[in-house]
Amino acid sequence: MIQIQNLHKSFGALEVLKGIDLSLEKGKVLVIIGPSGSGKTTLLRCLNLLETPDEGRLTVGDVTLDFHAGSRPKPKEVLALRKRTGMVFQSYNLFPHMTALANVMEAQITVQGKSKEEARRRAAELLGKVGLADKADNYPHQLSGGQQQRVGIARAMAVDPEVLLFDEPTSALDPELVSEVLKVMKQLAAEGMTMAVVTHEMKFAADVADQVILIDQGQIIEQGPPSEVLQHPSSPRAAAFLNVLT
Ligand code: ADP
Repeated sequence: MIQIQNLHKSFGALEVLKGIDLSLEKGKVLVIIGPSGSGKTTLLRCLNLLETPDEGRLTVGDVTLDFHAGSRPKPKEVLALRKRTGMVFQSYNLFPHMTALANVMEAQITVQGKSKEEARRRAAELLGKVGLADKADNYPHQLSGGQQQRVGIARAMAVDPEVLLFDEPTSALDPELVSEVLKVMKQLAAEGMTMAVVTHEMKFAADVADQVILIDQGQIIEQGPPSEVLQHPSSPRAAAFLNVLT
């Protein structure tokens, strides 16, 4: 479902991704961990072209794009890739002037061209799925952080993406609100959603990930099932990072 080959990305003189290779099968969960500033978010944002890679090849579903220095993808290619991915942001990024229901309806109308009625029905269904059927008419400021993030997940799913991308979805939340969001994510994983998740939640990684990658300074330094990467890291740098976390 996802294939990344030799992906490079710099911001000015700073090379943030230094040749990333990875693949993820349909229905699997990838967890991306690593120290702050190592390039995790940039990698995730390259997957839906919120950042444009400088070099490399990126496949999501049936869309494959090649990147070279100086070339940019065509708007049509960007749209094709975006349609296959849904993004959940650390700070929710809900539209503040729209109700929960309207937030989940929006992209269905603007991106998918659905009728209002159809979008409303699907939005209500998705809010039910994340346990917020009774909050449909609330505005974001009337919801807790955990509830806002669950609306964020419903919104990301509303366009029927093939892959869901999560960028530290629980790190802005008060500790008591983290589990309600992780529970929804676990449920999606169990239903076979393909997911790539940047997180510091090691228990989630251990319980839910099929594959964990540890990025350090723009390179993958460990890659494999959680039982290997988290418990038996092969490099001293990885062991040091994991020790800091535990
Ligand atoms: P992580 O998610 O692992 O904390 P990021 O991918 O957010 O790391 O950032 C990696 C590096 O790239 C950091 O040094 C960060 O300051 C830099 N960076 C990220 N986005 C930009 C940007 N838009 N412009 C310039 N530098 C950026």
